[in-house]
Amino acid sequence: EPEFANLLDMVEDAVRRVPDQDAIRYFDGRISLAELDAAANALAAALQHRGFAVGDRLALFSQNHPSYVIGMLAAWKAGGVAVSVNPMYKQRELGHLLRDSGARALLCLDEVHAVAAEVLADSGHGVDIVITSSGRDFQTRNDPRVLPDREMTPLPHAVALLSLLTDHAHQEPVHVPAARPDDPAFLVYTSGTTGDPKGACLTHANLVLNARNYREWMELSSHDAILAIAPLFHITGLVGHGVLSLLLPAPLVLGHRFHPEVMVELVREHRPTFTVGAITAFTAMVGLPGVGPDDFASLTKVYSGGAPVAPTVADEVEAVLGSYVHNAYGLTETASITHLVPPHRRAPVDPDSGALSIGVPIPSVRARIVDASDQELPPGQVGELLIAGPQVAGGYWGRPDATATAFPHGELRTGDVGFMDADGWFYLVDRLKDMIIASGYKVWPREVEDVLYGHPAVREAAVVGVPDDYRGETVHAFVSLRPGAVATETELVAYCRERMAAYKYPRAIGFVDELPKTASGKILRRALRRGGGT
Ligand code: ATP
Repeated sequence: EPEFANLLDMVEDAVRRVPDQDAIRYFDGRISLAELDAAANALAAALQHRGFAVGDRLALFSQNHPSYVIGMLAAWKAGGVAVSVNPMYKQRELGHLLRDSGARALLCLDEVHAVAAEVLADSGHGVDIVITSSGRDFQTRNDPRVLPDREMTPLPHAVALLSLLTDHAHQEPVHVPAARPDDPAFLVYTSGTTGDPKGACLTHANLVLNARNYREWMELSSHDAILAIAPLFHITGLVGHGVLSLLLPAPLVLGHRFHPEVMVELVREHRPTFTVGAITAFTAMVGLPGVGPDDFASLTKVYSGGAPVAPTVADEVEAVLGSYVHNAYGLTETASITHLVPPHRRAPVDPDSGALSIGVPIPSVRARIVDASDQELPPGQVGELLIAGPQVAGGYWGRPDATATAFPHGELRTGDVGFMDADGWFYLVDRLKDMIIASGYKVWPREVEDVLYGHPAVREAAVVGVPDDYRGETVHAFVSLRPGAVATETELVAYCRERMAAYKYPRAIGFVDELPKTASGKILRRALRRGGGT
């Protein structure tokens, strides 16, 4: 079996072997591997024509839409680096990401025009090539849930992807040197263990290797079809859907954004065999009225990752799905999975904590549990999980200090606390990092607090995750107001909502006179989480 030096070698191999096979199914539309490759060539040529050079970054501001995959391939074909952007981002978040990544080009889905237009109107970013997706052109069914009709704000200098593809049809990009395994391929933004958004710099080797780990350890082949439940802009969607589909190669079933009814409809229509996503997504799908094992009969290889799974919830989902939901664990910085529960195996549950095992490490991964001085602990003892291996990112884009802290000697500090049992199964029991996981989405208290501090009435703010049966955790804030200032809960929630992606804003706000603090004045988030503080 060939070893691929980079992602384009991998794609070329698939296109050469089965050019007519479906690469993407987007509702009623189908794009073959040869068509996908031709579209990516045309877009790469068009980018180069507008000055996009080797090493430049192309930001993908898109849902699970064909333009996302065309865009990432085009970035690589032009010798560049793709950057994933959460389509739920508001101006503040998009602006940070464009400046931090130094993106030269932006591919923007039509429905997020308004946000992009405002950011592009500001100075301080280097974007001078803008491509709009013209999503409708890729869609043959007019489903209002999928592409809401919205006013479109014109974007400066924007060109529509479809007209670019027509103008440059059959054009090949100018030859650029082949990417080396350690060259950056994708920047995926994460907050790491500190709460400050940074681009994890994933190389061609990281991504090819971890897609191969999915194939090997989840027993997947070109006979499978992949349902994209996770967003492509997340590491799990990028590797476990996008890159994996091109490696196998197997059809990638895209449903724009996660909507439980739409997903179930896509399962019935396209009979996908494999998926990976947050447990909340599965809970939503199996909770729909009238769905049962018959609907999901094709979907026999199901993995859940990104958030803790309560054993009782896994049982409930499995009863409707009719197959196991296997746990998998990984981070953005490890290009997705490092641990998983092997197929046909049932994960053990730790009798003390009630935690479901995250699985066993993939053979190339070196996972150790360490104490506070980084000494490796024996099985059964609780400490921080550190990970080394060929899928671990080289570091954060343009952040040598943060890289040195998070990756001492190339080994990643995960900020997750757990243990390994005598049989080699791993369990997580706590987090050193302040991250909140709401429906699988990662929320950083610091970021939400910073926004709250921007409100004139707020004196102090602390944001915590509180347990929630459906979401896992929900975001709550505690604030104390300035003397004499007035602000209502509704007003502060609305203030946050305007300034951040919908999954981040606090669902409730508690008002306190004084937040609990340590002797040195540090706010005790943990005390608030436990006691509520009111
Ligand atoms: P995605 O962003 O695609 O959801 P991800 O969750 O793997 O991917 P990150 O957003 O970097 O990546 O979040 C990683 C963190 O998510 C881990 O450090 C851990 O705290 C949590 N996590 C991931 N998988 C699991 C799991 N199976 N069980 C419990 N926690 C998990």
